[in-house]
Amino acid sequence: MTTHEIWFLTGSQGLYGPETLEQVASQSRQIAAALDESPAVGPRVVWKPVLTSAGDILKVCLEANADPDVVGVVAWMHTFSPAKMWIAGLDALRTPLLHLHTQSNVALPWADIDMDFMNLNQAAHGDREFGYIQSRLGVARKTVAGHVTDPRVAQRIGAWARAAAGYAEMRSLKLVRFGDNMRDVAVTEGDKVEAQLRFGVSVNTYGVNDLVEAVDAAADADVDKLVKEYADTYRVSSALLGERSEALRYAARIELGLRGFLDAGGYKAFTTNFEDLGGLRQLPGLAVQRLMADGYGFGGEGDWKTSVLVRTLKAMVPGGGTSFMEDYTYDLTPGNEVILGAHMLEVCPSIAADTPSCEIHPLGIGGREDPVRLVFDAAPGPAVVLGLADLGERFRLVANEIEVVPPSAPLPKLPVARAVWKPAPDLATSAESWLTAGGPHHTVLSSAVGVEELHDLAEMVGTELLVIDADTTPRQFAKEVRWNAAYYRLARGF
Ligand code: MN
Repeated sequence: MTTHEIWFLTGSQGLYGPETLEQVASQSRQIAAALDESPAVGPRVVWKPVLTSAGDILKVCLEANADPDVVGVVAWMHTFSPAKMWIAGLDALRTPLLHLHTQSNVALPWADIDMDFMNLNQAAHGDREFGYIQSRLGVARKTVAGHVTDPRVAQRIGAWARAAAGYAEMRSLKLVRFGDNMRDVAVTEGDKVEAQLRFGVSVNTYGVNDLVEAVDAAADADVDKLVKEYADTYRVSSALLGERSEALRYAARIELGLRGFLDAGGYKAFTTNFEDLGGLRQLPGLAVQRLMADGYGFGGEGDWKTSVLVRTLKAMVPGGGTSFMEDYTYDLTPGNEVILGAHMLEVCPSIAADTPSCEIHPLGIGGREDPVRLVFDAAPGPAVVLGLADLGERFRLVANEIEVVPPSAPLPKLPVARAVWKPAPDLATSAESWLTAGGPHHTVLSSAVGVEELHDLAEMVGTELLVIDADTTPRQFAKEVRWNAAYYRLARGF
């Protein structure tokens, strides 16, 4: 996020005269500086000169659109900024917008208030004029009210900034699919043209043998180096260091080929499909896990939609805690109901509780040589799971707040990485609601991103987000699904 910027815009008008406008400029600089220095807000916050005319407002909005470093714009009306001046600018603005409703002072200096003070510190009605024009124009935005010294204000702006970083990543994301979807599967299908319009992501397919060429071309010296890195990073099984070392070398070859292919094409996300492995000798496991840990998006069985989500959430909060995931099986013991999530191989080690173990085991599916994989339990703690479904006429996001917990007992015979979690509010309500929503079995699991970021992202991409949390009841949730169906059909127009 080092090059990302948020621009801080302050609205006013010429009637106040130069002296007041200088005070507006000085105080809005202080607000912008407070946000810039706040550890809760990731990107740089860049103050822009006070805006007093429609021409300047339109100009700064167009500049924000055109600058790839600008991921969002914060606007504040310290004084009264007649909002017809904002129509052209807001209508042109394509960069995510946050309306900060704040003021310079915390307490009122009751004994000293005169009309000069009143005319300077009037966000209470200046921001109402701005709120009106945003609603009148139907501008998507987040509204945050409170003084910048309130930690909650900076946290909410920080969440929005993370969502904006994810949105910026989506707009420029290129995803490569090796082979098509798993045959006959419905939920992994989707409209790639609509996805490019709605999210910005470009999704394209290569024959898997294009990847095989890159895998076969990997240099032996690079394979040697990577195998050593595995030995230094993981607990590598004695079999892989001994009689099965050729399998580990081939896994390293897959990683080198895959990474080279992705980087050469500028792809930050990809999919594989075990039904379409061409000349690959193993289903990619270890390579996929390590690429996810380095920030790449991934979806199994051709699931490009989940791969997009994995990459987007990793861009929101770089550094781990986010993985491809699949709801696999349940423990329905009354009072301790949990979901056991995993995949055939591909869970990101950035969610691991401890140093992963690097192992080789048979895999019935795929019909190739035994694949190498990292095995671990996910770290306990609060997290979310998020899925994306294509409803035919539009996309739907479904999220569930969860608590990742340690497995109820060791899993000595399960040779894949896994996460065990308690969904909110309880497993039955969560599952009934998820099924009612038509949410997918593939998800992204993240302990790095929360529901507020997801909500802000959904607002930016204009896509429905259904949240299952502590307050969810199945009956109310089913109603929300129905109401949303009507809303989104109307909102789409003709
Ligand atoms: Mn799957």
